[in-house]
Formats: sequence, C-alpha cells, structure tokens
Amino acid sequence: MRKNLGQHFLNDNYILTKILNYADIQENEIVYEIGTGHGQLTSKLCEKSSNVTSYEIDPALYSISLKNLSEFNNLELVNSDGLTFRKKFDVLVSNLPYEISNAFIEWLITRKFNRAIITVQKEFAQKLISSPNNKNYRAVSVISQICFQLKILDEIPPEKFSPKPKVHSVILQIIPKNTISKQDIQMIKIILSFKGKTLSSTLRHIVKKMEVDHNEFMKHFQSNKRVNELRPDEIYEIVRMLKSLMS
Ligand code: SAH
Repeated sequence: MRKNLGQHFLNDNYILTKILNYADIQENEIVYEIGTGHGQLTSKLCEKSSNVTSYEIDPALYSISLKNLSEFNNLELVNSDGLTFRKKFDVLVSNLPYEISNAFIEWLITRKFNRAIITVQKEFAQKLISSPNNKNYRAVSVISQICFQLKILDEIPPEKFSPKPKVHSVILQIIPKNTISKQDIQMIKIILSFKGKTLSSTLRHIVKKMEVDHNEFMKHFQSNKRVNELRPDEIYEIVRMLKSLMS
C-alpha cells in the first residue's frame, strides 16, 4: 500500500452500487474514472457505458487492473496521473485519492462535462460548500461555488474502505455552472490570502502593485467587511473589476 496515493479501496458492493446509481450513466455517455485501483468500480462502469477511460498512477495496480478487467473492450486503462487527462468526457466517477482533492478541483474547472460523482473526505466536501465567515471558507470554496453546483448525496463510514481511513467520507455530486480562467483563480487566491483583513485594505494592497489610477476604483470598495465575509459572487465581481482595471 502506498500511503501518499490515497489508496483506500472500496470493496463493499452495496456502496459501489450506490455510487453507480447516483452516477445514473446512460450507455452513450463517455465515462472517466480517476484511480482504477483493482478495478471494482471500473468494471461496474463498463457495464453501464460503452466508453470508459480509467487512469491509475501506481504501476503495480495498473498491471493488476489490466488483468482483472481484460474482458472489457469498451475500456481504456492508462498508467498515468489522472489530472493530465485532456480528452472529452460526460460523467466523471471517482473514489478520489484524498491527496489530490485541491488539485482535482482546479483541473475540473478546466473541463467540460455533465456531472461528477466523487467520494471525498467529509471535511473536504464541507470546505467546498462552506459559507462566508465559516472557519472552513477558503479560496477553494469560493472557486467551487462560482463554478459548480455541489451536493453531498451520502455518507460512507470508514469501515467500508480497506484499509480503513481515519476520517469519514461522503459521496459528492458536482454539476458545472460556470467556468473561470487560471488568472481568475489566481486572483481569488490572492484576495482570500488576506483572510481577516477588510476589503478596503486588501484592495489597497493589491492595486498599489498595479500601475493604474485606482482612486476611482477604490471609491467603490470602502467596505469594512472582511474578505472572508464576502460571498463567492461578490468576490468574483471584484475580480472582474480588477481585471478591467488591468486591461
Ligand atoms: N477505484 C478504486 C481505488 C480507489 S483508491 C476503489 O474504489 O477501490 C484511489 C486510487 O487512486 C488508488 O489506486 C491510487 O493509486 C490512485 N491514485 C492516486 N493518485 C492518483 C493520480 N494522481 N492519478 C491517478 N490515480 C491516482
């Protein structure tokens, strides 16, 4: 078992079927899975869709799954980092390795798809859906809530995995609603890095670095609200205004 690869396998048929039902895959939908493991979930995906691709980073597991899944000719297995996948897909299903959760969200924003059904740490899912002013409210929450509709569908207790993780997991549904650029993501991260600071002082810091006349801009933002008290749409509005200043 390679610990830093988030290898907690799901062998429980009841849970695997639950995930599959939530994914509600139509035969003509292209399915993408990150983390083949031994292929338990993969084989079920292959029974639903005529076109499945699954990436596994661990060469040993990749070889095992090649053998386990050799009967499926509607499946492409790839031994590589799942976040390098650039082809089109409709539905993403993954028992996501916890270590790549944050990077996964940024990768997903760049993709066009219909829905994703993923198993993640409960804490991570709560961070994604957390509201302004909550202690878990971060840049990744803002980014996710701008780009996605998020819904926790179910809980999975630790003992359903092997080996058993220390934390609880949930099944999370992600439906895209907006895309934003890498630059937007960067600016959201910068704004949120001023956590606990007021919006006015944060923006004064940011615009000072930009060689533009910012007096007019700053008049709009004489706000004593802290940046972490702002809603995702308010933060996105600020990003848009900062960008118009730059252009
Ligand atoms: N789908 C299987 C395995 C889940 S465990 C099941 O449900 O049982 C997560 C899997 O993701 C592990 O097999 C791990 O090796 C793999 N993995 C970790 N990081 C990865 C990455 N960046 N790209 C692709 N696979 C990865």
